[in-house]
Amino acid sequence: MSDQDESGVPVAPRRMPKTPIEEIKGRKLKPSTLMMGHGFDPVLSEGSLKPPIFLTSTFAFESAAAGKRFFEGITGKRPGGADGLVYSRFNGPNQEILEDRLSIWDEAEDALVFSSGMSAIATVLLANVNQGDVVVHSGPLYAATETLINKILGRFGVTFIDFPAGASPDEVAGILEQARAQASENGGKVAIVYLESPANPTNALVDIEGITEARNQVFGDDASVPPIAIDNTFLGPLWQQPLNHGADIVIYSLTKYAGGHSDLVAGGVLGSKAHMDPIRAIRNTIGTICDPNTAWMLLRSLETLELRMSRAGENAAKVCAFLRDHPQVEGLGYLGFIDDASQQDIYDRHCSGAGSTFSLFIKGGEAEAFRFLDALKIAKLAVSLGGTETLASLPAAMTHLSVPDERRAALGITDNLVRISIGVEDPDDLIADFDQALGEV
Ligand SMILES: *Cc1c(COP(=O)(O)O)cnc(C)c1O
Repeated sequence: MSDQDESGVPVAPRRMPKTPIEEIKGRKLKPSTLMMGHGFDPVLSEGSLKPPIFLTSTFAFESAAAGKRFFEGITGKRPGGADGLVYSRFNGPNQEILEDRLSIWDEAEDALVFSSGMSAIATVLLANVNQGDVVVHSGPLYAATETLINKILGRFGVTFIDFPAGASPDEVAGILEQARAQASENGGKVAIVYLESPANPTNALVDIEGITEARNQVFGDDASVPPIAIDNTFLGPLWQQPLNHGADIVIYSLTKYAGGHSDLVAGGVLGSKAHMDPIRAIRNTIGTICDPNTAWMLLRSLETLELRMSRAGENAAKVCAFLRDHPQVEGLGYLGFIDDASQQDIYDRHCSGAGSTFSLFIKGGEAEAFRFLDALKIAKLAVSLGGTETLASLPAAMTHLSVPDERRAALGITDNLVRISIGVEDPDDLIADFDQALGEV
């Protein structure tokens, strides 16, 4: 290994982890295998089987030249990012191991982790949006995302146009033309196409492939072609991999399925290096990276991601099969029982599983829904999703309380819509719990 950079400045050789094993005799190892060791070499940490938690705010340089070289990477003077660890607002060993492992699930070239799903989303938007620009987004979005795009960015001269999650590619092409006209009037560009699929709480799916085609058709190979970003929190990374369907940037609230134990808050963003570099630069500037302890907890979580999500998905299928025929149930918004041909077509092309988060429409209104919720004995009453435990909530009275009545009605968020996230408990116990609670309605 050379201990000089290309201009002849001496650089202390960095101890590098040994090359990770990603295949055996041509067999590409699966994510669930790689989660136990990828990106961490025990030799660099006293033989510790698991990565230590690196609680430090800064990192010692082996020489002044090494420090300069690392800063050239951090500031973008040298392409390719940081060569080494510099300062904990920029990077750290736990976060870098986590980013390496997270990339595997979505087959992404690069990944970034954040202090929350919302700080991830905010950093992506800050990296892509300028004054006068237009954001095109699917609707509905996670409420805080909608506030960020529609209200906060508005203070900086950014406008938006939205389209319903289930819109056809032709409709989206029309919206993109309209957005381009609006942007040129405002002296800006169409900055980003921002999707969320399935939408919360309706579970409406967005046609990522169709929208990618519409984007390409409208913008061609225009240098200012807007990237397509998608919040994949509800089905990812196990049941939907949007980078394989044309998306450029995938976003997660790692608080949900990836964390999976309802004990941390974090976010992730994945995509090509070219798309990640500007986002990393903003993260370096404002410090939205997650802390080492949270990164360590997420490493533990990723080891069981497939186990947890598979079990939760199987449980949800059993619970929904029971609920579908129950006399107190008016309907279900579950991706395993889609009754719309175009939505089913999107599902078949994009999704490998129906997830474990769904809407249960109880016969009656808020009073009946409250009686059901208050009677639950195993399922806990809480917002959020994707944890090991089953959760239930009433969006109209909780997460979507601040949404104006008219918009709530348009989104189909009725007073009898109970939102359920199924966990990894025994499925028959869950069915018994829902059965007795429905009996109290
Ligand atoms: C929870 C959630 C977010 C926000 O994530 P935080 O980790 O709470 O900041 C964003 N999008 C979706 C779809 C979510 O469910």
